[in-house]
Amino acid sequence: MKTAADALQSSLQYLKGVGPRRAADLERVGLRTVEDLLYRFPVRYEDRGTFHTIASLRPGVAASVVGEVVGSGLRPTRRPRFKIFELLIRDRTGSLRAIWFNQPFLNDVFKPHQRVVLFGKLELTAHGLQMQSPQYEVLPAGVEDTDATDDEGDVHAEARMHTGRIVPIYEKTGTLTAKMQRVLVHHALEQLPGALDDPLPAPIRGRLGLIDRRTALHDVHFPPEQSRVEDLNAFRSPAQRRLIFEEFFLFQCGLVLRKRRSEAERKPRSVVISDEIRESARRVLPFRLTSDQKKAIAEIVDDMKRPQPMNRLLQGDVGSGKTIVALMAALVAMENGFQVAFMAPTEILAEQHFITIRRLLERSRFRMALLTGTTAGKKRRETQAELAGGSYNLVVGTHALLEDPVAFRELGLAIIDEQHRFGVMQRAAMRAKGMHPDVLVMTATPIPRTLALTTYGDLDVSVMREMPPGRKPTRTIAKPESRRDEIYDFIRQQLDAGRQAYVIYPLVEESEKVDLKAATEMSDHLQQDIFPAYRVALLHGRMKQEAKDRVMGAFARGEFHVLVSTTVVEVGVDVPNASVMVVEHAERFGLSQLHQLRGRVGRGPHQSYCVLLYQSPLSESGRERLKALTDTTDGFEIAERDLALRGPGDFFGTRQSGMPTLRVGDLLRDHQVMEEARREAVAALDGPDAPALTAFVRASWEQRFGLVGVG
Ligand code: ADP
Ligand code: MG
Repeated sequence: MKTAADALQSSLQYLKGVGPRRAADLERVGLRTVEDLLYRFPVRYEDRGTFHTIASLRPGVAASVVGEVVGSGLRPTRRPRFKIFELLIRDRTGSLRAIWFNQPFLNDVFKPHQRVVLFGKLELTAHGLQMQSPQYEVLPAGVEDTDATDDEGDVHAEARMHTGRIVPIYEKTGTLTAKMQRVLVHHALEQLPGALDDPLPAPIRGRLGLIDRRTALHDVHFPPEQSRVEDLNAFRSPAQRRLIFEEFFLFQCGLVLRKRRSEAERKPRSVVISDEIRESARRVLPFRLTSDQKKAIAEIVDDMKRPQPMNRLLQGDVGSGKTIVALMAALVAMENGFQVAFMAPTEILAEQHFITIRRLLERSRFRMALLTGTTAGKKRRETQAELAGGSYNLVVGTHALLEDPVAFRELGLAIIDEQHRFGVMQRAAMRAKGMHPDVLVMTATPIPRTLALTTYGDLDVSVMREMPPGRKPTRTIAKPESRRDEIYDFIRQQLDAGRQAYVIYPLVEESEKVDLKAATEMSDHLQQDIFPAYRVALLHGRMKQEAKDRVMGAFARGEFHVLVSTTVVEVGVDVPNASVMVVEHAERFGLSQLHQLRGRVGRGPHQSYCVLLYQSPLSESGRERLKALTDTTDGFEIAERDLALRGPGDFFGTRQSGMPTLRVGDLLRDHQVMEEARREAVAALDGPDAPALTAFVRASWEQRFGLVGVG
């Protein structure tokens, strides 16, 4: 006898209606087992349960009708190869036209006298009411006849699958259409045993009023009679509530297990704090810390004193002063005889950190090195040898530091700046090299609370919301390109007052060359025609490293007044005298990216301005993005809006960033469920069901969520 688990794991090739060819097709789109199929949920539902008479149809409303085909045909249009297929049906109350564009095969689908069901939205045209591209289904002859033979019984079931009820709509994938999936799911559910093992512990189900897995799997595909299509489309039906909870609960169990595992890890030794160390830190500090900075440092140092490796994320908006916090942590590590690796996402940033930190550590006894992709052969080998020998206390570099075979004598702390993709994989790579350093990840992309629970569910988080004193929020305005002359006048005033300006160009991959040309021409134009009395420089990603450094350095020293740049200045670069930023084609940038860019100004005592130039007309989302920026400078609020506009997947990218593959839950819509699931997971893993649950999650988590396993 087959067990329930076997039934779900059984290969789709044994499913009725699936031959070897289809099985291969399905496998190509990631559907191998019955479970894969049943957990590929409808994206929405349509109420095709109520049929309307043709005479009762109203424009603007979606409806199902049953009728008889009276005529059909392909009609050419003025555009060659562009054809319209027309279908005319009638019922006892009237007739209705339906059209489809460019689907000539429909000519073979419909025949006179067939009975068909159409579902779609009605529009009023010169020809009267019509449906454009409706869902259709040809009913087998005799379908209304209740005395069907066995053979036709199947056909009946199929008819009720697609019409005459609330119908699940699936996303088409590969060759699998919504209709086909409906049929396969129907067969799969028929074959499934009456009861299934349920990974959700019974007490939780009872307490939260969740239905069992077997019922949920059936009802989510074929909603029971009394269901309301509105509830289903809002993902609030009992079946959906249960499946969403299941998904989040299992996901959170994995995160909790992962966190427990890392808490069981031990570093060779932890730091200790003494009065001398406190004194040495005070000597290095160039200014009074904000209270958020103090709090963050205290949290970090507490972690470093503990026996298990630190795994902490420091979130703080651009300009909130993360560097000094990191440096304090570095100092504590170095005073304890550890080496420190400080990693930045780009070479420019690594160099800038190097310069800042070297200045701050000038009077200390610590030795530091810079190691990036462009550090040349001999220098590189020397630096590496000295790191291995332990005579460098701190190395600043790009993320390549982790990938390269860089050996340390005793790496105690890894600081990773502006990187939210550093995660489990990199940590695993370090572990594999026998390193268990404390890890501090810093990001200026504030992570909305919802996502923090998800992507960083196994990290500790410190947040700095406060800005160093004396900052004036940058004033932001959006203007159509046609008003650029006013903007140039404004820039000139700022330059006359001794300030500097950035003009930013987008660099989109597909049109990189064109954009680069535009940026180059713009730089010439600004120099010759607009700001002849000032010096204009150009900076872009295609330039050699030395050239970039030269330009950036000269701009920082005030030798250039206007810097025309592609987005290479996006992160970290610090020129406090720059008070204006003009972003060309602002509509092409993402919200978070614009916010990062804007963070390049407003870093000094002067009032700063950010001008977003856009090309009209703006798309709806373009307008919302620009509005968000003119409304607020609060990075957390911007991140929330960005998330709402783009959705979590795009906000973060996937996989390495720790974004799970979700099949039914939605991080935004269902964030409360995620919080509930978190609480329940923590409790369940301490309760009597813990062993079974742990085994289940260990076995399935990696595959289910597309993430690195929980060990
Ligand atoms: P980010 O968080 O974006 O990395 P930085 O560490 O680069 O910010 O700091 C931005 C600027 O603010 C730097 O010029 C830094 O010296 C300055 N700064 C940081 N903390 C303070 C503070 N407590 N008081 C005054 N200036 C500060
Ligand atoms: Mg920074």
